[in-house]
Amino acid sequence: MAETVYILLGSNLGDRERNMEKAVEQLSAIPGLEMVAASSIYLTEAEGMDDDAPAFLNQVIKADYDYLPNELLGALELIEKRLGRIGKGLMQPRTIDLDILLFGDQIIETEQLSVPHRELLNRAFAMVPLLQIDPDIVHPVTKRPVAEFLEENEAQSVLMFKDYVARHI
Ligand code: AMP
Repeated sequence: MAETVYILLGSNLGDRERNMEKAVEQLSAIPGLEMVAASSIYLTEAEGMDDDAPAFLNQVIKADYDYLPNELLGALELIEKRLGRIGKGLMQPRTIDLDILLFGDQIIETEQLSVPHRELLNRAFAMVPLLQIDPDIVHPVTKRPVAEFLEENEAQSVLMFKDYVARHI
C-alpha cells in the first residue's frame, strides 16, 4: 500500500530556481512515486554557513510512494548526484538537497535514515511549506500538530519567493 511522503527540497548554489524545477521533474520520474501536491517556493537565509553564502530556496513536495523508505532515499541521493551536488558535508552550499520529512506515520531510526526528519520541528523553512500543503498535519512522534511547533519557533524568517497555490499535480 502506498504511503504519503513529504520531501523537502533545498538549493543555495547556482541557478537555484532551475535546480528546484529540475529536481521536481526528476522526483516525478521516480518509480512508484506519484506527486500529489507542491508548496510555494520560500526563501530562507543560510544559517550556520559563511555570511556570504547565498540564501536557500525551499519547497515541500507531497507524494504517494509504493516502496520502502530506503529505496526512496536511494532515489533522492541519485537525483542529488545527477544535479551536481559536490559534497555531502554539512554546511556546504548545495545545488540540491533532498530530505525525507515524513514517510506516512512511520518512525525510522537507522544509520541511513531518521524519519520523521530529525530537524523538522526546529526548522521553520521545512514547517512553513509543509503546513501550506497540510495545515493540520500531526507529527507522528510527538503526536502534536506541527503548527504548534511553528508557533514556538520565532527565530527564523521564511519569505515567500514564488507563490504557487499548493496544487494537485
Ligand atoms: P544532508 O543531505 O546533508 O541533509 O544529509 C544526508 C544524509 O543524511 C544522508 O547520508 C542520509 O543517509 C542521512 N539522512 C538521515 N535521515 C534522513 C532523512 N530523513 N532524509 C534524508 N537524508 C537523511
